[in-house]
Amino acid sequence: MERKNNLEEILEFNREFVEKKEYEKYNTTKYPDKKIAIVSCMDTRLTELLPKAMNLKNGDAKIIKNAGGAVVHPFGSAMRSLIICIYEFDINEIFIIGHYDCGVSNIDTGKIVDKMVRRGIPSNTLDIISKSGIEVNDWVHGFDCVRDSVIESVEIVKTHPLVPADVIVHGLIIDPETGKIDVVVDGFKTK
Ligand code: ZN
Repeated sequence: MERKNNLEEILEFNREFVEKKEYEKYNTTKYPDKKIAIVSCMDTRLTELLPKAMNLKNGDAKIIKNAGGAVVHPFGSAMRSLIICIYEFDINEIFIIGHYDCGVSNIDTGKIVDKMVRRGIPSNTLDIISKSGIEVNDWVHGFDCVRDSVIESVEIVKTHPLVPADVIVHGLIIDPETGKIDVVVDGFKTK
């Protein structure tokens, strides 16, 4: 039998999920009960492990995910989400959570650009982007050290001109196998 594609498989499951009212046990509001926001990595190992290892349930926290779990730019998408968290969802505590063995660390950005070209992206497209001031190489670059990345992200949030001084910002690293958390920055001690 031919395997269904992901969309078909998802929709089939979804019909049953809704019919059987499986959603009922997840019912909550959009306001996070624990008043916390998390920025973490999109790593597949963390999808369920991260909330379980932190005892977070549906409704407890706003979780923002990206490649590396970093706040890279003070006016980028992760930071924008955090600002909305603070002013729209009453969040007063932020956790930046990197993890060991991150796929974003030590990325060979040259190889990524090569792959783009092999996949049919014209190389002059890269030149045009470069002329607009964005170096694709730098843009896709992750980080070399997760600890440094967490510290930098905490700094960006903590010193952000739109973040009020009473917001606590922690920096943590999680083990993607055991879920063990190491504290890099304890936001209560660095206030
Ligand atoms: Zn990662």
